[in-house]
Amino acid sequence: MRATPRVMTTRQTSAPSHHGHSKAQCIKVLRRLSAYLDEDLSVSICEEIRKHLGACPNCEVFVTSLRETISLCRCADIPSLSPSVKARIRREILKAVRYH
Ligand SMILES: [Zn+2]
Repeated sequence: MRATPRVMTTRQTSAPSHHGHSKAQCIKVLRRLSAYLDEDLSVSICEEIRKHLGACPNCEVFVTSLRETISLCRCADIPSLSPSVKARIRREILKAVRYH
């Protein structure tokens, strides 16, 4: 059996990248933000998100607006959010995913 190289192509023909990385990467990060609300993020994932935000104006603007509500990527110190606040943030994230 011949080994087929499994190269993940980041090339997307539909939407040209406007900030140096693929839209899929943004969506992945935003989804993780959503998971963050459930205290589901490890330190390494926070690192990944922060790295992405440094390279992605779109996501950075979005997260900056959220940061007032959630202390993003403090990891150790997540404020307790009421279910309604969580729901609101989640809606914001979904909206941002759609805009991306
Ligand atoms: Zn992004």
